[in-house]
Amino acid sequence: MIRTKGRACTGKRRHDTEEQAEEHRRRLIANGAVRLTAYRCRNQACRGWHVGHLPKPRH
Ligand SMILES: [Zn+2]
Repeated sequence: MIRTKGRACTGKRRHDTEEQAEEHRRRLIANGAVRLTAYRCRNQACRGWHVGHLPKPRH
C-alpha cells in the first residue's frame, strides 16, 4: 500500500489527461462550483489528473 502525502486522491474522480480533467472542471463550474482547478496528481500510484479546490487565493 502506498500512503499518499499531501493531496489525497482517494474518493476523487481520476482523469487520464489534462483535457479530460478540464472538461470535468468546466462541467462542475457550469453547475455552480467555483474556484476549481485541474491538477496533476502527485501520487505515483495514480499519475492521473484531478479536479479540486484551489488553495487560498492571494491577491
Ligand atoms: Zn490521484
